[in-house]
Amino acid sequence: MFESLSERLGGVFDRLTKQGALSEADVVTALREVRVALLEADVSLPVARDFIKRVTEKATGAAVTKSITPGQMVVKIVHDELIRVLAGDGPAEALKIDNPPATILMVGLQGSGKTTTTAKLAKRLKEKNGKKVLLASLDTNRPAAMEQLAILGTQIGVDSLPIVKGETAVQIARRARTQASLGGYDVLFLDTAGRLHIDEVLMDEVQAVRDIAQPRETLLVVDGLTGQDAVNVATEFDGKVGITGVVLTRMDGDGRGGAALSMRAVTGKPIRFVGLGEKMDAIEPFDPERVAGRILG
Ligand code: GDP
Repeated sequence: MFESLSERLGGVFDRLTKQGALSEADVVTALREVRVALLEADVSLPVARDFIKRVTEKATGAAVTKSITPGQMVVKIVHDELIRVLAGDGPAEALKIDNPPATILMVGLQGSGKTTTTAKLAKRLKEKNGKKVLLASLDTNRPAAMEQLAILGTQIGVDSLPIVKGETAVQIARRARTQASLGGYDVLFLDTAGRLHIDEVLMDEVQAVRDIAQPRETLLVVDGLTGQDAVNVATEFDGKVGITGVVLTRMDGDGRGGAALSMRAVTGKPIRFVGLGEKMDAIEPFDPERVAGRILG
């Protein structure tokens, strides 16, 4: 479907000097192809532009040796810069779950995969870290969403807070905290209500819950296929409630993962996990190498 960047650059560089140093003209020609590849991968325009500018500075004058073609040279510089942006300050840290019960607040829009991701993370913490986990849904508008979390909990063998009709999200959060302390749980997941769009009511509710729950982590779940929208959602949530990380879902889809680059470049927040399917095991820690490879094609 997509021609790989290396193939494209191969063609461009056939005409250019095979040795010496990359001239600015060589680099500009090559980076036109890189820019197209980034935009095709759904990287936002300002982020792509900024990225190209930095790579131009790095690549101009770079020595080309016999063992590496100019095309390979540019691909390497682009790859290294992608990793630098995607990885940020270093490897995505593990979830902060010391001082039990540690609360993890899950936020995001309806349909982003928030409830599924909550259950996937709970299963991971239970199986990989041996943690005792409690799940609680705060989606008082959608009884079906509350039931969905309870059903997933049963499926993965993780407890969920009993559903009590008529409570507000803040009341549920309080009850969940008490239950988590009394029941000796290590981790409490609060799955907040999602809406179709960001609005004041949603943000006010998430803020109120955050103030009560004092979460160690506030993870935003966004659909990785929504590109620039995902970045806008992250900027809004971070501004209003402060997020500690992002989970990009649907990275098993056809998208080329450009949202990851824009997300990191614009919000500065680490991508902690990626969702790779509907099954409860389909989640992995974010891997900058893998995403860079996918963006470059
Ligand atoms: P919520 O409204 O944000 O809680 O969304 P849900 O968790 O109910 O997920 C909505 C749909 O997306 C469900 O059918 C999930 O199985 C599906 N889903 C969630 N994460 C992923 C993912 O990483 N990949 C794929 N392919 N589907 C996902």
